[in-house]
Amino acid sequence: MFQKFLTGKTAIVTGSNSGIGLGVAHQLAKAGADLVLNSFTDRDEDHALAEELAKQHGVKVRYIKADMSKGEECRALVEKAGACDILVNNAGIQHVAPIQDFPTEKWDAIIAINLTSSFHTTAAALPMMRKAGWGRIVNIASAHGLTASPFKSAYVAAKHGVVGLTKVTALETAQEKITCNAICPGYVLTPLVEAQIPDTMKEYNMSRDDVIKNVMLQRQPSKEFATVEELGDTTVFLCSDAAAQITGTTISVDGGWTAL
Ligand code: NAD
Repeated sequence: MFQKFLTGKTAIVTGSNSGIGLGVAHQLAKAGADLVLNSFTDRDEDHALAEELAKQHGVKVRYIKADMSKGEECRALVEKAGACDILVNNAGIQHVAPIQDFPTEKWDAIIAINLTSSFHTTAAALPMMRKAGWGRIVNIASAHGLTASPFKSAYVAAKHGVVGLTKVTALETAQEKITCNAICPGYVLTPLVEAQIPDTMKEYNMSRDDVIKNVMLQRQPSKEFATVEELGDTTVFLCSDAAAQITGTTISVDGGWTAL
């Protein structure tokens, strides 16, 4: 879709050994960016994944372990990367339960990983972007950053917070050739979504097929999942010159969900 216009830029993608983060990493690498992949694990397969992407796209790729639930590790990720032209705050988890039964440790973990990590990585990346005189911050929020669903209190609160943080970051960098935007995906069939199907089956007393059709895609007028490649290409677009004046806003990739 895009030529290699990101050659020479370094992109850090948090939570990128799976799902949307990995899809975004592939599309950024296709556009020529060197990559820093991340998750909280440090397995051989994490490093093998970095080698595989490097070979496939002809860019430099490193894997750096950092737990996005810990502020100091978020900041250390950016410091260890040594450069950060593009920051994609993607790491996220989910838990589905009614508020009165919602475990406090799940609330704390979701707020830390899905929201607070972006504050820390952004704070660490901005001095590097300011020094380079250019930067792109892309926060992977959610349709749940703009709307709500029952049983997702922490997730919806965190994603609305990400949209707010996006706006503030954009205002603080508006005159510095740095942009910050949030992408708001609808449902994408990744391990995160797979994992919430059993709990949702329980909450609604439904079969797996009914949860997919009548709960998840019921909200998505296109009746199709968005794909990780589409989210990657949206991220690449936000890094292009065409998007230089797009900042502080949300881009929905949700098959029409938020138009309802
Ligand atoms: P996923 O489970 O496939 O990927 C989540 C990634 O985050 C993984 O790489 C995981 O290792 C990483 N991660 C989790 N905890 C971490 C931690 N403590 N430290 C570092 N990394 C950690 O899920 P996904 O669907 O690809 O989700 C990616 C992002 O997209 C999340 O922020 C999610 O909220 C958002 N999102 C997903 C959907 C969807 O339908 N899948 C929709 C809207 C938004």
